[in-house]
Amino acid sequence: MINTNEISKLGFGLMRLPKIGAEFDVEQIKMMVDSYIKAGGNYFDTAYIYQGSEAVSKEVLISRYPRESFKLATKMYIPQGKPKTKDEMEVYFNEQLEKTGAEYFDFYLMHGVASEKAYRTFCDSGFFEFVAQKKADGKIRHNGFSFHGDPKLLNLILDEQPQTEFVQIQINYADWDSTVIYSKELYKISMERNIPIIVMEPVKGGILANVSSRIEEILKKAEPNKSIASWAFRYVASLDGVMTILSGMSNMEQMNDNLSTFDNFQPLSKDGQETISKVIEIMYGSKPILCTSCRYCIEGCPKQIDIPKIFSLTNSIRRTPGDRLVKVFYSQIPQDNNASACIECKKCEKICPQHLPIVDLLKEAAVELTKDN
Ligand code: SF4
Ligand code: SF4
Repeated sequence: MINTNEISKLGFGLMRLPKIGAEFDVEQIKMMVDSYIKAGGNYFDTAYIYQGSEAVSKEVLISRYPRESFKLATKMYIPQGKPKTKDEMEVYFNEQLEKTGAEYFDFYLMHGVASEKAYRTFCDSGFFEFVAQKKADGKIRHNGFSFHGDPKLLNLILDEQPQTEFVQIQINYADWDSTVIYSKELYKISMERNIPIIVMEPVKGGILANVSSRIEEILKKAEPNKSIASWAFRYVASLDGVMTILSGMSNMEQMNDNLSTFDNFQPLSKDGQETISKVIEIMYGSKPILCTSCRYCIEGCPKQIDIPKIFSLTNSIRRTPGDRLVKVFYSQIPQDNNASACIECKKCEKICPQHLPIVDLLKEAAVELTKDN
């Protein structure tokens, strides 16, 4: 059983750590870790597929702090339809232990289940028996999963895996009523079953921190001293049952801002909730592409299209139609890799945790980013 009181409300997601060129900016990450721990933070979230993240966690955290002073979460990813053998899972897990130097994992997750087929692949691999054995061996303290599926699938997994101790789900104000992400329904299911919730994507991959000037004006007018991102964090932190909220912080500035949001935390007031409702109305009016820039789609794309970059440019042009600079940025992408280069194989759509209709969106992007105003 998890003692949720032991876990800090702000979790440090190690997915979007700062880099200098292709290398991690280790000195900055160390400073971020130090500030976070000094402020009482103790939950770190990494994953095998966050490239280099497990290894750098050893350098910046695990080798520098007593092991019992923080909680480390990591995950096993098994591609849909490609079950692993027990020996393969053993190799994977041992590699994780070795890379992190962690000796054991406080929280261990089935990574990013978005469909029943993906869940069955974990079952076929014997993943749940594997985790039970690792728990018995003291190598895993708590088991759960990160989830990108629908309410029906969440209920199914929780029915079949009653040993689940926590769930990691996507909650933010833009997705609360979404019929694709189902934040509200997933939250309710977890609450009804009394399962602690780890929130991921509270700022929707940065979308809720980089809002249009019109939305910024509304938020600043309501609370001039609060940052734009703080609204998103306060929205989810105001919900009961949330154990920790993961923020994939990318620099010291974001760390400081988040620490100040959670220092003497105050839930959103009724007025604050109304302000958010207004923001959602405006936000959806500009029809943003709700890509979180997780970049999961990129590796398998035969045309090496930087999909999140193109979607980010498209969102910019939708917020500020006619922005010539955005079009210049787009024109710098080689033709072989731009939105028009898509061959509609849909490999990306199968993996996108946000269930985006990427092929159609790229077609829209290709038009919007090249048309003359
Ligand atoms: S559908 Fe297009 S963008 Fe997606 S993987 Fe295939 S070529 Fe790449
Ligand atoms: S399109 Fe989907 S998979 Fe690709 S970066 Fe965006 S959210 Fe992630």
